[in-house]
Amino acid sequence: MTQEQWGVLQQDLLKTIGQNNFKTWIEPISFGELNDGVATFLVPTNFIGNYVSQNFGDLILHQLTKSGALVRRIAFKVAANTTARPVQQQAITSKPEESRESDMAGAPLDPRFTFDSFVVGKPNELANAAARRVAEGGPVTFNPLFLYGGVGLGKTHLMHAIAWELQARRPDLNVLYLSAEQFMYRFVQALRDRRMMDFKELFRSVDVLMVDDVQFIAGKDSTQEEFFHTFNALVDQNKQIIISADRAPGEIKDLEDRIKSRLQCGLVVDLHPTDYELRLGILQSKVEGYRVQYPGLQLADGVLEFLAHRISTNVRVLEGALTRLFAFASLVGREITMELTQDCLSDVLRASERKISVEEIQRKVAEHYNIRLSEMIGPKRVRTFARPRQVAMYLCKQLTSRSLPEIGRRFGGRDHTTVMHGVKRIEELRSQDGQIAEDLELLRRSLEA
Ligand code: ADP
Ligand code: MG
Repeated sequence: MTQEQWGVLQQDLLKTIGQNNFKTWIEPISFGELNDGVATFLVPTNFIGNYVSQNFGDLILHQLTKSGALVRRIAFKVAANTTARPVQQQAITSKPEESRESDMAGAPLDPRFTFDSFVVGKPNELANAAARRVAEGGPVTFNPLFLYGGVGLGKTHLMHAIAWELQARRPDLNVLYLSAEQFMYRFVQALRDRRMMDFKELFRSVDVLMVDDVQFIAGKDSTQEEFFHTFNALVDQNKQIIISADRAPGEIKDLEDRIKSRLQCGLVVDLHPTDYELRLGILQSKVEGYRVQYPGLQLADGVLEFLAHRISTNVRVLEGALTRLFAFASLVGREITMELTQDCLSDVLRASERKISVEEIQRKVAEHYNIRLSEMIGPKRVRTFARPRQVAMYLCKQLTSRSLPEIGRRFGGRDHTTVMHGVKRIEELRSQDGQIAEDLELLRRSLEA
């Protein structure tokens, strides 16, 4: 590899990891030599070397190999006089440059988490639309954007997608993405090093602040306090804030009320649990990628449908299952059949087996709405009984693998069309009626707990 090739590669990296990351981490390093399959890069500090190796190592290696270089491994060597620009003037304090470095960059963005790779379905269409809106980088219309939803439903994916898009469309904006945990870590570090002024200045100088998993700061009083001030300062300057959490602002325990109400001021949207269609869509889109990675591998009909049906916990598990399946099939050189799938994924399939019963749902829902079980199953059609009944039917459809006729039978021998009507009705109400949406969420959580 030559310096020119490294130059070309840098351009590719810039596109993939974005300007901020590039400036902070890639610009300071330079190409040293390629020897015996090992490409050595010169870095100004060990810290940068480690960081680049951990976060961008695979990517660099991948791009190198793609460009035809015969590289097995990459290595980093600290060199006092790298040809590249030193990132920071290190004369400011006697602190090692490490802490200053980590202050400047946000968390690295996953190059796979873009809008293009985000599959949109009913459960996430609102969240996706809101995310795309703020990603346009136009005038701030809702502040903050608050995205919430259970584990593995795509919150981080959407956050990264926004950051990528903003970097591409508005390179002039200073976008900072980090997890709430990192926010706390930096805050604590700034306190310890008596550099609170730097900390405040940094966070108040961004144009877009993105904080992932904000529930993390609940119960951590001084971090909350600082977060609150940062938040207010940015909102006052009309800077966009984007927050994610695993539940709605009001439901985060040990979060100060004034923060809760601040978080509710903008647009609050949730990612609903995936439905069958979305899961199938996600699987199909992943398989497209695998067809390139494993050309010639055969996939039998019905396998994806089976997985979408059986693995409904979260997308991360679904993806993991598919990855394992393709890797396994390509190793043994066999077609991906239903048998192979069941063999290879028996543990995952067992773990995600439906355990919630129709009876359990009926009991919980009756309890929630304060009616008797007999009233829920009985023939009366007054609203006070009919609505809870429909809610229970809906949950049975969502959370069990029972068919509509089976569900009907357990609701006092009702016809499957009645069940279908009930399910549809609740689906409609879920998007129109905040109370119903909240009830459903609460019930689902308590049933899945
Ligand atoms: P969360 O932050 O909500 O826990 P992530 O954003 O980390 O979840 O998502 C978990 C995994 O599932 C990631 O690999 C992500 O790319 C994938 N994923 C989630 N939702 C979707 C979707 N709608 N389309 C494509 N991939 C998705
Ligand atoms: Mg996440």
